[in-house]
Amino acid sequence: MELDGNGWVDCRCGARHWGRHGAAGLFLVVDGHVLVQLRPRWAHQGGTWAIPGGARDSHESVVTTALREAQEEAAIDPAVVDVVGVRRMQHPDWRYDTVIGRASVRPPVQEHAESVLLDWVSLSDLPDWDLHPGFRESLPDLLVPRMSLVVDGANVVGSRPDGWWRDRAGAAQRLLDRLEGLAGRVLMREGKRYLAAHVEVVVEGQARDVADPPLDSLLRVVRAPGSGDDTIVDRSRNLSDVVVVTSDRGLRSRVPDSVPVSTLFEWLS
Ligand SMILES: [Zn+2]
Repeated sequence: MELDGNGWVDCRCGARHWGRHGAAGLFLVVDGHVLVQLRPRWAHQGGTWAIPGGARDSHESVVTTALREAQEEAAIDPAVVDVVGVRRMQHPDWRYDTVIGRASVRPPVQEHAESVLLDWVSLSDLPDWDLHPGFRESLPDLLVPRMSLVVDGANVVGSRPDGWWRDRAGAAQRLLDRLEGLAGRVLMREGKRYLAAHVEVVVEGQARDVADPPLDSLLRVVRAPGSGDDTIVDRSRNLSDVVVVTSDRGLRSRVPDSVPVSTLFEWLS
């Protein structure tokens, strides 16, 4: 269904938002500068600066939406964007996902008719600009350190006596449901704020039968071809800002020393 996201939502927060299936935008950072666009006067809360973005169509992931909008509004080639995470603002009946992207050099950009002006602004100057209220509200979360949580599905599921051994895929699904509330949010740990910009769950054996998360989910399921621990060690070496979530001491000793290891309880409390 092309363009089935276009439309207003009367949200129980009292505001009216654009995007029947939510909206998403691209926060593209290159060398400490962010691409922003001046929204046209006729647009909702126009005349302010924000990131390229728009309504999500039901067949799109939030990353797909953000990259498509950036291409439509600023002619950004999606291939040059390295997506490093997502920040989610959840409303009662709507949400906005800010997709955080990086590029090694500033890609060529071009104003679309819909956007009056594009500019690169340094992260430190950004708060002084006349920003769209929603974008301004998201800034503190976008500037805290990011984390990629790699969750040891077998260990975390096995630590709860909820009958998981009878239905491993069902237990994995319950874990995904719990983790859904963490992805894209700012979490506290030891008094510091972190953005859980990427959350993935590594599953093995029968738990691999768990269903894929819905398109608009920020969770990723990684099905280990063999041992889940091997896959987790591999992922911990290849992701940036990674934190491994497990209480398995054997696994803890196998991940690189530079990678923090924590239990899920620390993040849910
Ligand atoms: Zn709302």
